[in-house]
Amino acid sequence: MPKKGLLIILSGPSGVGKGTVRDQFIDDPELNIAYSVSMTTRTRRPSERDGVDYLFVTRDRFMEAIKKGELLEYAEFVGNYYGTQAAYVEKLRNEGKNVLLEIEVQGATQIKEKVKDALTIFIVPPSMEELEKRIRGRRTEAEEIVQQRLSKASKEMELIGHYKFVVCNEDPKLAAQIISLIIKRHME
Ligand code: 5GP
Repeated sequence: MPKKGLLIILSGPSGVGKGTVRDQFIDDPELNIAYSVSMTTRTRRPSERDGVDYLFVTRDRFMEAIKKGELLEYAEFVGNYYGTQAAYVEKLRNEGKNVLLEIEVQGATQIKEKVKDALTIFIVPPSMEELEKRIRGRRTEAEEIVQQRLSKASKEMELIGHYKFVVCNEDPKLAAQIISLIIKRHME
């Protein structure tokens, strides 16, 4: 039996560049990471692939997953539901993979209760002005949603104390190097 893999939680406000940072370290063979594909009721963005970035489902299917206890955690975020598929994560960890969850703070808090040794990392922007610039630069959301995401970001930033590590995304490459180092230390 391989050693059970780590459960790594990566959080940070919308627009902070979690995906960009993640892309810089996720394929490092030394880290042996598998990405947990979440279930969501949000509409797919043009660049996203179903089953790769998210499992895009209807609200009814999501409610069924909650009812059947299929989710390790879930949360509502700016009008949509997002959740982690429990069996999928468990299977990967039992295969020895270090499983990476990219989730928001409410979900991270639920997991901390269940998985005491989860490795929790929060990515912060260099400033809130920079965060706003990045969200607007993405040009995928309407103004109302941008405002909601910004207000959510301020609230999320207040919870960084719940995380073991806080990494600033001034430069994605550097942030990824720091995160790689943190993961490697925990694999020892
Ligand atoms: P987005 O719509 O920008 O892809 O995601 C919105 C927020 O939901 C992000 O903070 C993202 O990390 C979070 N998120 C994605 N998947 C999950 C999940 O399975 N559970 C929870 N709690 N949050 C998630």
